[in-house]
Amino acid sequence: MNEKTTPTPSLTIIGSGTCMPLPHRKAPCNLVSTGKAHFLVDSGPGSLQALAAQKIDPTTLSGVFYTHFHGDHIGDLNNIITWLWVRTWANNYAGDTTLLPVFTIYGPAGLVTYVQNLYKYASLASMPPCVQFVEVAPNETITLDNCSVTAFKVPHTAESVGYRFTFANGKTLAISGDTAHNNSVINLIKNVDVAVLECSYDDDFHEKTKHEVHHLSPTTAAQLAQQAGAKTLILTHIYPCADIVDIAGIAQKVFNGKIIVASDGMYATIE
Ligand SMILES: [Zn+2]
Repeated sequence: MNEKTTPTPSLTIIGSGTCMPLPHRKAPCNLVSTGKAHFLVDSGPGSLQALAAQKIDPTTLSGVFYTHFHGDHIGDLNNIITWLWVRTWANNYAGDTTLLPVFTIYGPAGLVTYVQNLYKYASLASMPPCVQFVEVAPNETITLDNCSVTAFKVPHTAESVGYRFTFANGKTLAISGDTAHNNSVINLIKNVDVAVLECSYDDDFHEKTKHEVHHLSPTTAAQLAQQAGAKTLILTHIYPCADIVDIAGIAQKVFNGKIIVASDGMYATIE
């Protein structure tokens, strides 16, 4: 437990980037601390290592919520399962047969099939005993110890969902994953305290590609936040073309609330 896993609900940006390998923006990964437990939302390639680099102990995690199956969001799932297996084996060889705490992997429909295919040809014949999988349907709410999490369908891939956390202190946090602009995203972030929206592209590139690539720009993200009445907007999932323009300044022309451009290691309490 460290300053980033305190009893107060909080968000830590582990990776604010994309599939592009950049030293300052790791692949998408968010750490949500409910006040009692700690979950990742997405784990792109290298997320466990990024946690360790930010001096956050991965053994404090209770699970991960996946928004969709693109590699930049789910790439470290294989590594997470391998890590849990190795921890299990290490304990057994040390004479400790106590099961590791349950680690729950949540995701949209298709999660179990995805994992079965992932391990079809791998030498790991089964899952570590501590792992359980839960497929979450749009509009379904998962009740945790002192927090609830509701999935909302978002327009990106067929299975894509965003997650809205409601904490024991009454505060709310919504994370879009990858998405375009539509009314279901407004429902996801309606009157939310903190909206974490992707901001993949600058406005020009977004305008050219929006009919075939489902992402947001600073203006479309800000329009969603404004329409939904979100209080704080955090822009993340930033490709290089968006990293070289003033996305906060552009978004502020549309959105009246507080705007933060995510950076790796950024920590915010939700209170
Ligand atoms: Zn995607």
